[in-house]
Order: sequence, then C-alpha cells, then structure tokens
Amino acid sequence: MTGSPSRSDATASLTEVSSTRLADGRELLYFDDGISPPPCRPEDTRDLPGRGPSGELRYDALSGEWVAVAAHRQHRTHLPPADECPLCPSTPERSSEIPAEEYDVVVFENRFPSLGPDLADVPPAPGWGTRGPAGGRCEVVAFTNDHTGTFAGLDTRRVRTVIDAWAHRTEALSALPGVQQVFCFENRGQDIGVTLHHPHGQIYAYPYLTPRAAVMARAADAFLAETGQSLTGHILAGERADGSRMLVEGEHFSAYVPFAARWPLEIHLVPHRQVPDIAALNGAERDELAVLYPDLLGRLDELYGSPTPYISAWHQAPVDPALRRSGYLHLQITSPRRAADRLKFLAGSEAAMGAFINDTTPEQVAARLRETSVRRTGTS
Ligand SMILES: [Zn+2]
Repeated sequence: MTGSPSRSDATASLTEVSSTRLADGRELLYFDDGISPPPCRPEDTRDLPGRGPSGELRYDALSGEWVAVAAHRQHRTHLPPADECPLCPSTPERSSEIPAEEYDVVVFENRFPSLGPDLADVPPAPGWGTRGPAGGRCEVVAFTNDHTGTFAGLDTRRVRTVIDAWAHRTEALSALPGVQQVFCFENRGQDIGVTLHHPHGQIYAYPYLTPRAAVMARAADAFLAETGQSLTGHILAGERADGSRMLVEGEHFSAYVPFAARWPLEIHLVPHRQVPDIAALNGAERDELAVLYPDLLGRLDELYGSPTPYISAWHQAPVDPALRRSGYLHLQITSPRRAADRLKFLAGSEAAMGAFINDTTPEQVAARLRETSVRRTGTS
C-alpha cells in the first residue's frame, strides 16, 4: 500500500475519445469502446436558447459551509416519457441532447447545472452575507444508449469505458480554474430523486471542498501526521484481517460493509494501492474494477428481488496538493432500503444533527450480501 505520485496513467485508457460542442456551446464528449473506429457524428442543429448565468453560492456562517442556490433547476426535465428522453440517441424525427444516432458512453455539460458555467474561486474570507457565482462544472454521463438498461447489466467492456471516461473527466476538470474537488456519482431510482430513467451518472466539479470531503481530509491528514500511515489503508487492512464484513477480496480491490455503516445498505470498495483518484488507476486495476463494481450493484438488486435505489459515490482526493498527500480513492455505495417495501428517511437526528442511527448491524448486512453472491454465481 505505497503511495503513487502519478496524477494519471494515460496508457491505462482503452477508450477512443472525441469531443464536440452542442448548439448552445456546451461541451460533449464521445467515449467509444474502441472496438471499431468511431463513426462520423452529426452536429447539433437544434435552436437552443443561450446559456444562462451561473447560480449563486452563499456562505452559511453558522457551519462554515457553502450552499449552492440554483433556482433555475426547478424547471429542469423531470421524468420524461421514454420517447422524449434527452439521453437517448437522436433520430431523424427527434433531436435529443446527444446528436448521434448511436453511441457507447457520452459525457456532456448539464443544461441545468448547479455549478457553472462560470469558473471562479469562491470569495476569500467569507462571513455572514458572503455570496458569489456558483462556479464549477456539472456533467452528465450516459452509460449506454439503451434506455432501459442498468449499470449492473452493462458488459465488462462497457464498464471499462465508463471508468476511462471518469478518469478522463477527473483529470480534465481538476485542471479547470477554481475547481477544488471532482465528484463522480450515480443516483439510481426514483425513490432517491432521480429525474431521468435512462441509465446515467453525474460529475460535479466544485469550487470548494465539500463538507464530507473536508472532514475526511482532516481525519486522514491527522492520522498520517501521527502514524506516518494512510488512514484508508489502515482501515482496509483492519477489515481484511477481521473478515466479518468482507464481501470481495480481489487482486487490486476489496469490498466490505464498513465497521460503522450509516445506512441500511452500505458498501465500500477500496483499491489495495493508495491512489488519489480514478485517473491514477492503472490498466490492471481498471480491468478488475470493471468486473467487481457491477457485481456489487447487482447484489443490491438481488437482495430483495427488485431494483434497489442507491447512491454510488466516488471519494477522490482534493485537488489542493497540500491535501492530496493523504487522499485515497474509494467508492461508497449507500441505499436507504431497509426492507423490500421500506426505506429509511433521514429524520430529526440525521437531517438536523448529522447523527446517524442504523437499524441494521453491518455484520448482518455483510452476511446477507455474501449469500446473495452465492445465489448469483453458485460460488462463495
Ligand atoms: Zn433514454
């Protein structure tokens, strides 16, 4: 578990990348599985209104946290019928957000962003009443051109392309002026606020360190200063030695239900090598991730025999070099589903105090997720 100084392993990507602009100037990138040369793609000829100004950031002096105020998002596309889906390929009859008639993976700037299109540092020395433009970038990642698919159902080669796309965007967005953190994630399921059914994820490039990332960076920094070790590496070693919450031990990654899980379903997937972000994963690591990750998502659906809503969140090291030293990439998958027909809601203790109470034990959840794997594959 030694640290990797590399920012990126460009040779790890197996994916063809090409970029274009949508009619209103937003950037769109095609990531092709690389099996055949990418086809020639038509231009976006829609008559779109110009891009509006960025929303606003306001400083919450009580907590020292930034809040994005994005009132324009109230009017964004909400659960459109399949024949109006903005992520399906365009057809001669209808233009979607993606001008091509077919694609593998596409990333484009969100038309209704919480952050951006301006790029700006947050105001210095903020206090009560401080506001500024909500700079940064919000991108949409379409995982497949199949409207009805799921991430767990993607084939291994396609998952690899998605990983390459995350790596490409992490590196590119980290280099934009003012960006402090890049967050790749997927919200899956209407129950947790998904507004489009088409399988997709998002990438946020924040102009500040998010509250959760700031807390974890402080803890990792303090542990490194005290012990000379990586905190995430220390936890990974502890979980592997204990074994009671382990789900998978691969050559390059391991997955477990964390010791102090907050959610009824929570899984952490952690690389064995300390890397700051997805861009720094090498080819062998990306190959294994492309197999392990959809398997874990599939177990969540298998658990109750129906689609489980989840949030899949990539924790990447902050962009600031001073905080990157202790940063350690890992994936956190959480679900509020606590029974076939019941969800956990964030009530008083969680929503107001940030103090989680979990009604399940992590060890029981791990045992159930291990049984699910046996059912799915016939092996342990
Ligand atoms: Zn669609």
